Amino acid sequence: MSQTNKIQTRKPKWLRRRLPSGPAYEKIRSLINKGRLHTVCQEAQCPNQFECFSQKTATFLIMGSRCTRNCRFCNIEAGPDSPPDPDEPLRVAEAAAFMALQYVVVTSVTRDDIPDGGAGLFAETITALKEKIPGVMVEVLIPDFQGVKQALKTVLAAKPDVLNHNIETIPRLYPVVRPQADYERSLTLLRRVADIDDTIPAKSGLMLGLGETDQEVEETLTDLHDTGCRMLTLGQYLQPTPAHLPVSRFIPPEEFDKWHERALGIGFTEVASGPFVRSSYHAKELFCDNGSR
Ligand code: SF4
Repeated sequence: MSQTNKIQTRKPKWLRRRLPSGPAYEKIRSLINKGRLHTVCQEAQCPNQFECFSQKTATFLIMGSRCTRNCRFCNIEAGPDSPPDPDEPLRVAEAAAFMALQYVVVTSVTRDDIPDGGAGLFAETITALKEKIPGVMVEVLIPDFQGVKQALKTVLAAKPDVLNHNIETIPRLYPVVRPQADYERSLTLLRRVADIDDTIPAKSGLMLGLGETDQEVEETLTDLHDTGCRMLTLGQYLQPTPAHLPVSRFIPPEEFDKWHERALGIGFTEVASGPFVRSSYHAKELFCDNGSR
């Protein structure tokens, strides 16, 4: 697994995939727009959209489309946003019911401008989904709530099926990749999940290809495992626009396979590792294989 630091721009063949289109996709897209909803799927132009939609999974982005932070890998617009809409939880539940979703991932921009960071709205969205769609599975991909333990308690009290919080990259790259985040703070959040409710599995994920070394990835996987996290995603970082961080290296599929085996060797029980893997890619399978359902 050699490391090169020259900038890589042209996508290798294993990363070329057409974005979804066609009537079925357009139907879902217009539904989401009509519902005045945002999905990470669309905001991040995720190449897996159609695959996920056809597997009855989607990822909703709550609390607006602008973030109070400005991570250098993220395509979400930075800047102040309007106060969250108290009706959004119900609108998410209605759209999810209309799409006949069985597994719903709820994530958000980071709203450091809101007292509880939006923890209450996460809890209301989980409750609205579970009331509207009996048997639905809900994963929440949460921000770090600036390390406030009560905010995490509020979310977990609503009993999501999976608590996901991405570590995103290795500690050395935090100042460049996610300057407003804190590596230890994110580990503490994941460690607290089992302390607060050990019936809810913790999940996390990394992007590869930002300049990390193998040893640094290995150490971060070990740190994550030590928090009690057992579900993991590893995917390729892709540069959203030229204004974002460049790709340091395109990781070949066979190296993702090696990391898959290594992560299982470290003790993770559910691992999705591949060039197209994203936080909620095959989320339902990962959860169901976790034997939690
Ligand atoms: S905190 Fe999340 S939504 Fe905000 S810029 Fe960073 S990755 Fe994007």
